[in-house]
Amino acid sequence: MTNEKQKMSLTKRVILGMFMGIATGFLIRTFLSDINFVNEYIVHGLFDVAGKIFIASLKMLVVPLIFVSLVCGTSSLKDISTLGRLGGKTIAFYLVTTAIAITLAIIMGNIFEPGVGVDLTAATTFASKEAPSLGSVIVNMFPTNPISSMAEGNTLQIIVFAILFGIAVSSAGKSGDRIAAVFSDLNDVIMKLVVMLMNIAPYGVFFLMAKLFTGIGLDAIVNLLSYFLVLSSTLLLHGFITYGLLFKGFTGLNPLTFLKKMETAITFAFSTASSNATIPVTLETATKHLGVKNKIASFTVPLGATINMDGTAIMQGVATVFIAQAFNIDLTMGDYAAVIVTATLASVGTAGVPGVGLIMLAMVLNQVGLPVEGIAMIMGVDRLLDMIRTAVNITGDCVVTCIVAKSEGEMDLDTFNDPEAGNKDEELHLHHLKE
Ligand code: ASP
Repeated sequence: MTNEKQKMSLTKRVILGMFMGIATGFLIRTFLSDINFVNEYIVHGLFDVAGKIFIASLKMLVVPLIFVSLVCGTSSLKDISTLGRLGGKTIAFYLVTTAIAITLAIIMGNIFEPGVGVDLTAATTFASKEAPSLGSVIVNMFPTNPISSMAEGNTLQIIVFAILFGIAVSSAGKSGDRIAAVFSDLNDVIMKLVVMLMNIAPYGVFFLMAKLFTGIGLDAIVNLLSYFLVLSSTLLLHGFITYGLLFKGFTGLNPLTFLKKMETAITFAFSTASSNATIPVTLETATKHLGVKNKIASFTVPLGATINMDGTAIMQGVATVFIAQAFNIDLTMGDYAAVIVTATLASVGTAGVPGVGLIMLAMVLNQVGLPVEGIAMIMGVDRLLDMIRTAVNITGDCVVTCIVAKSEGEMDLDTFNDPEAGNKDEELHLHHLKE
């Protein structure tokens, strides 16, 4: 029995957990939804509690992991100019891929016109929040108190502090060497924690999906079917074609190998709808499965999870076109250009947690004078789309991570080409703690 279980890779088990969760959710909503006991104790009891504990344990690792792995990564860089080049390249790729994503979304929205003839009576009111200005986003990256940045889980501030700390470590001679060694050990220990967590993921993912699919509103999808289909196919198009071409073009490596290795991280992103909570798994995938050196991935992965949201940008592009069509408002070429720029910035400002992309959409709609009430129309179908776009978001992070790593000569191709790479590291042997 144990042997059989071990033969099945973690990825397969996580995917299995996801599908079984979805099936269980559907079964309960179809056959057992009237039974009070099931609703109260199983769905809102067991499923809810176990799913929340799973998400909490993922989030628990994010802050220590980002800090420790990034200090390790930065302190092992040869010189500061590498850091500048790395940062410049990464941010440029993140912004360009996002702009491509929105452009694709606008094109698809105009070809398939999902909003034409849509009934607006369903729209309720939507209270839009004030979007932060670009200036305040930049100022906010700099921590005044690194401990409170960590307490609040402010990823950008932690990244800035960890980079500065790492630079100081690498230039502090012997003391720096000692600290670097401690951080390197700490990194190994935290990665072990990630592995422990990944091993309970098949169950965690099962509970999350079972709860979600018991209650998810599918009627709304029927009403907004054209929006749902155009958006999800644009997400898939970007995920497979744009990323496939970029990956092949810039790294020369096989995009299918890449996608295969992304399966676990994609399943996590899909189930949690949070790039941020998925960071531990994305980082593990990038380093152990894709062969990217930690010095690159420790920087590009958390940064990407925070500022690179191609899937979110696609949603904002399609939604803008959809709302304009539904309200019969014509957008000019100038408006579209404004949408591309604002949605790129909005997706930078979107936190990697569920549903925030929709709130940031208000910023894009305001920019081109569209009614923000339009957001209320699409809110009902957003959860499932959020799951798909989060999967695209983190896939985009890993594409850029590989491109940057390959161009810096920091990608281990043997690991990338080995289908089994990383699987051994994910096996957990808690029964003999010391080997
Ligand atoms: N849920 C998305 C993410 O975490 C953000 C969003 O689009 O709402 O990547």
